[in-house]
Amino acid sequence: MRDNRLTTLTTPHGDLKLPAFFPDATRGVVRSAGAADVAACGLEGLMVNTLHLSMTPGSTAIKKVGGIHAFTGWDGPVVSDSGGFQVYSLATGGTKGVSLSKSGVTFKMQGQKKRTLTPEKCIQYQVQMGTDILFALDDCPPDGADSQTLADSVDRTLAWGKTCREALDRHAEDPETRPKLFAVIQGGDDLDARRRCVDGLLRIGFDGFGFGGWPISDSGGLVDEVGAVVEMLPEEFPLHGLGIGRPDNLVAAYHLGYDTFDCTIPTRDARRGRLYTDESGDAPGSFDYVRIERESFARDDKPIDERCDCPTCTRYSRAYLHHLFVIGESTGHTLATTHNLRYYARLIERLRRQDA
Ligand SMILES: [Zn+2]
Repeated sequence: MRDNRLTTLTTPHGDLKLPAFFPDATRGVVRSAGAADVAACGLEGLMVNTLHLSMTPGSTAIKKVGGIHAFTGWDGPVVSDSGGFQVYSLATGGTKGVSLSKSGVTFKMQGQKKRTLTPEKCIQYQVQMGTDILFALDDCPPDGADSQTLADSVDRTLAWGKTCREALDRHAEDPETRPKLFAVIQGGDDLDARRRCVDGLLRIGFDGFGFGGWPISDSGGLVDEVGAVVEMLPEEFPLHGLGIGRPDNLVAAYHLGYDTFDCTIPTRDARRGRLYTDESGDAPGSFDYVRIERESFARDDKPIDERCDCPTCTRYSRAYLHHLFVIGESTGHTLATTHNLRYYARLIERLRRQDA
């Protein structure tokens, strides 16, 4: 737990109030919601993925039209994930389709040529896109990896982190306009490896850190390392919970000391008709779902949540949302996504008021 919480993070596109939640705009769009929809929910930052966008449409294409902010219509801070984690989901055959070396990670996708993501390219793509908070390339070991694999992953993460730091300093020399560079702390469930990673990354010099690896346990809560890493870092550094998470896990991670979060859960749940409400109790981050496709909502004239002030709840009934899902109308996904994102924004607002 941190005693002195950070309240803002300065970026080239404005000061970000902390804590903050970034919906995932992996391919440059929060699925089923445009930038104006997301802004109307009261969220202040977006998380995009470097690897996906470097393939389609390409970072040079984004640069050509004025950068990621002009391209997506989002004028607030944009964070870019390095893509190191996504290599495994994109490669044919998962981990078998990926090979690691000192210089980077090579992977092959079905019907395409081999690609190598190096630390230099990773920074180059992010600089071309013009994002505000960049992530250094890291090596994410598989869940349950043995100690040698974890040690190798820390070595690679440190070596790639150093190259990324040097590459960004070359690309963006003016400290006034230079984006922030965050590094990812690896080491799996081995706390000595985590500590070695933290110490090495601190020596290189970063503006903030992210928890790397698998933050969620088999039982659905946070793994112990999520909290252990907080104690290893000086308080002045912002800490990002990559992929955290469900409302209860986000609140738990905030209380452990995390400042920023990103996750696909609220938007994915929305498209599956799982809409959040506060109805299940008073425990921090406790939540319930309205499963809007259930027949019982067909004649329900109430909004999704009477306490919600989102554009969906102030205008539409559960019956209407249910109808849109039944007929497969994409507007239903947009209205559901807007509600879930506003739920997360309200959760963040409560954390800022120290009310959750
Ligand atoms: Zn709502």
